[in-house]
Amino acid sequence: MMILAADFGGTTIKLGLVRAGRIRARNRLDAGANRPMAERLEAVACAWESLLKTNDCTLQNCAGVALSLPFLADPKLPHVRGEFGKFPGAGDIDFAAWSRARLGLPVALENDLRMALLGEWTAGAARGKSDVVMLALGTGIGCAVISSGRLLRGANNRAATLLGHSTIAHKHSAGRCGNIGCAEDLASTATLAKLARERSDFAGSQLAGAGKTDYETIFALAAQGDECAQALLQQSLEVWAVVVQNAVIAFDPELVVLGGGVLRSPDIVLPAMEEHLRQHMPSLPLQTPVVAAALGDDAALIGGEALFSQNQASTFA
Ligand SMILES: [Zn+2]
Repeated sequence: MMILAADFGGTTIKLGLVRAGRIRARNRLDAGANRPMAERLEAVACAWESLLKTNDCTLQNCAGVALSLPFLADPKLPHVRGEFGKFPGAGDIDFAAWSRARLGLPVALENDLRMALLGEWTAGAARGKSDVVMLALGTGIGCAVISSGRLLRGANNRAATLLGHSTIAHKHSAGRCGNIGCAEDLASTATLAKLARERSDFAGSQLAGAGKTDYETIFALAAQGDECAQALLQQSLEVWAVVVQNAVIAFDPELVVLGGGVLRSPDIVLPAMEEHLRQHMPSLPLQTPVVAAALGDDAALIGGEALFSQNQASTFA
């Protein structure tokens, strides 16, 4: 049986028909993340129906629906929490009721990075491992953990999810999330432009005229010898390395999988993380490998099927 999977990203919604760890057919929609969630769900349902039709399948060939969402999910509730300005109205939607009414199918929903980790665990970089940390570095810093072969959830289904908001500079001021010196405030796309402008060498840097301050620009200008970009990149690498190390200390994984936009430069990011672990890991002679995610945009779709079939998540029949 097939799973109808959707991954709600910031710029696109990825859609797939997934069976046995493989995406049998795929499609994508513009995210339209500023539009109401109810409207986007209907667009997703129509796109799935069209995908089924072009692949000579019907809803009767499907066992359920898997939704990867940029929110916090709660296995005890059919609702999500924390809209963060995306897909307004999502917090008011009963996804299980919607799926039953619109498609006649049960639904599984989870935070998007957790879905991606389940995908990497099923068919990607973490295959065969029982203890894995995944971090997504880019727009923010996301984290998800599989511990002893199960998705780590915690009392409120938030375990590890907010690791990117942990304090790494305790004398820093409170940031956007309210926490003091949080890692995401010190090294993510969300605050990169502000961090750049605060530097005394910004005005003389090519960054000042670059039009946008994102990691693609930072990596490119750093490679050209721009000192401001090099300093910002170095700070980001140090912050990410501390987050990786904190995750290794907390969760004792066999493997750390890194995803997100900055992994387009794996030759710079991965060695910096491993070197930090080599130099600073307290009382632990083991070296934890740090690798790049393997499945890219497919991970969360494949993870959706894994979530559904292993009954590990907030599934509402
Ligand atoms: Zn934060």
